[in-house]
Amino acid sequence: MIITVKKEASKQEIDKLIKHFEDRNLHVTLIQGDNYNVFGLVGDTASLDEKTIRANPLVDEVTRIAAPYKKANRLFHPQDSVIDVAGIKVGGNEKIVVIGGPCSVEGESSIMEIAKDVKAAGADMLRGGAYKPRTSPYAFQGMGYEGIQCMVKAKKTTGLPIVSELMSIDKIQEFVDHVDLIQIGARNMQNFDLLKAVGRIQKPVLLKRGLANTIEEWIMAAEYIMSEGNQNVIFCERGIRTFEKYTRNTLDLSVIPIIKEKTHLPIIIDPSHATGDWKLIESMSLAAIAAGADGLIIEVHNDPECAWSDGAQSLKPERFATVIEKGKKIAQVIGRDM
Ligand code: PEP
Ligand code: MN
Repeated sequence: MIITVKKEASKQEIDKLIKHFEDRNLHVTLIQGDNYNVFGLVGDTASLDEKTIRANPLVDEVTRIAAPYKKANRLFHPQDSVIDVAGIKVGGNEKIVVIGGPCSVEGESSIMEIAKDVKAAGADMLRGGAYKPRTSPYAFQGMGYEGIQCMVKAKKTTGLPIVSELMSIDKIQEFVDHVDLIQIGARNMQNFDLLKAVGRIQKPVLLKRGLANTIEEWIMAAEYIMSEGNQNVIFCERGIRTFEKYTRNTLDLSVIPIIKEKTHLPIIIDPSHATGDWKLIESMSLAAIAAGADGLIIEVHNDPECAWSDGAQSLKPERFATVIEKGKKIAQVIGRDM
């Protein structure tokens, strides 16, 4: 970290500042220029808050050199992390994974049918929401534990590991017992208590990007989970809110190479919530694979018009199968399997 301090700072004031940082186990190098005093801080600066340092009227500028995240940072962990989800490997140069299934679990027979269809199409995992974060309290809120039990039955029949969203800490044991990949939804990306709670278990976590969060805020959310002990984090880009109205959100594919450069964790793409429109899913899925995504999570329903949530962005199983078929060809071009 580099801190520029005004020229008029007295020797006592400079010594006081040096002691302040040295007391925090930082190594301080002072360069006294003609117009400024420049402090170079070396060490673990992650816990320093730039805004608090700026509160000192003698401080002119604070520049962070190192990223504020450590556990997720590729700098300290150069090799790709591969996350094991019930035997399915995600990340590194492993096979690109495909997760398919409905937005919400709607009952045993319906999830069973969709599970068989996505498996036949070539999916590696089954998704299905049992606890749903809905904008309206009057909208369908999910089947709750019954929905989780339906997912477990679909897993037993198809062998597909299951992905579902955890909304509150009080359900964590239920998810540890039954769910293979615990999704933290966009709306909870900065629910820090929930992040810390999933940090204290070892189940893999699918961390969606918040509705309007920067990449750094998203990585810091992963840092919350990892700093508590759970290193099994997979990022999921699901579009961010912009001024655009033709799509539900704006899919930011540039995050794929950025997340890979800054962190060692895998990243998958959710073209369903990113676009809100089934017609855009195929092209965005292929683009995501070409850009280096480690996987896709796609909403699939056998009767989208009657889906209890997100029908407009759900693919019928046949179209989902086509996405996988075409995706395999793109994957081959970039030297990966799918
Ligand atoms: C979902 O996956 O069904 C969901 C609600 O996603 P998001 O949190 O990205 O909106
Ligand atoms: Mn949905």
